[in-house]
Amino acid sequence: MLNFTVGPVQSDETIRSIGAEQVPYFRTPEFSEIMLENERLTLKFSKAPKGSRAVFITGSGTASMEASVINVLTPEDKAIVINGGSFGQRFVDLLNIHKIPFSEIKLRHGQALTNEMLAPYENKGYTAFVVQGHETSTGVKYDLDMISGFCKRNNLLFLVDAISLFLADRFDMEALCADVMITGSQKALACPPGVSVIVLSPKALDRVNANDPKCMYLDLRSALTNGERGQTPFTPAVGVLRQINKRLKEIDAKGGVETEIARIRGLAEYFREQIKDLPFEIVSESMSNAVTPLHPTTASAYDIFTVLKDEYGIWVCPNGGDMKETVFRVGHIGALTKADYDTLLKALKDLQKRKII
Ligand SMILES: *Cc1c(COP(=O)(O)O)cnc(C)c1O
Repeated sequence: MLNFTVGPVQSDETIRSIGAEQVPYFRTPEFSEIMLENERLTLKFSKAPKGSRAVFITGSGTASMEASVINVLTPEDKAIVINGGSFGQRFVDLLNIHKIPFSEIKLRHGQALTNEMLAPYENKGYTAFVVQGHETSTGVKYDLDMISGFCKRNNLLFLVDAISLFLADRFDMEALCADVMITGSQKALACPPGVSVIVLSPKALDRVNANDPKCMYLDLRSALTNGERGQTPFTPAVGVLRQINKRLKEIDAKGGVETEIARIRGLAEYFREQIKDLPFEIVSESMSNAVTPLHPTTASAYDIFTVLKDEYGIWVCPNGGDMKETVFRVGHIGALTKADYDTLLKALKDLQKRKII
């Protein structure tokens, strides 16, 4: 199987071999050491300001989105949320469930966010801004520098779901004055699913410590206290956390987050250059390095996904809902090489020869 989806993505041999090992008992100094190192490297790669903390939640990315909403925000807040696709919609649903007042800025699929759209919300008593860094469902990367300026002017808490952005695109939490950064194990970390990560700025930590969420498993206060000694309140996905440790250390040894971003950007640019003669349109006004969203002009997107999977052993990422027939995505995160893209391009050219596209 050759996997170009946006998660779970392809893991390399080293990471997969850790998955085959016996899972160790975890209330030990050895596992604490691994967790402290995971926290240190995550803070380093997200460029978190001094005094920030990272917590590791056993649960997919959505668990960390929900934990952020219930621990950092309260019903006294008034949030702005950007809804540009299924992950933006997920924040809208979470804010509704937890009764956090909010205004929603809804975007067309593929549409970028602009300053003009934000203008009506200046000086209107908002307290928080909730957004994806990259709306993975449509492949739109938002202008975080622009949003950061808005948050600074309006003194807003700034919560960023960077689940598919972290390690794929530049993200400087300190420069952005972001307060929450979320990521997940199965995206650019290229590990199996099951763990998500929340980085909290000192301002967000104050919020968490003053809050009293009505949930035990996702109460970040106990995660933070346990994390001080490299432990978690409940049994974590020990195996995945060991894989994350390996991956973070490898990225560090190879030159750090900039090198990893450049590697992923190189693959994205290579693929985008090579598809110029294929009957596909790119359907995003502002792209991330993580994924290329494509509209096939001569065939159904879902048929292309199915034929590639069943006849070529190649997995691209289908879209859901009303984009099912019109858009598919090709990911650039995970253990992929240029040779893998050559294999995909060869298959796409074959589809063209067979008049499938
Ligand atoms: C993958 C992803 C999520 C999390 O989805 P899970 O299935 O819960 O891991 C959330 N937001 C974005 C932007 C994502 O790409």
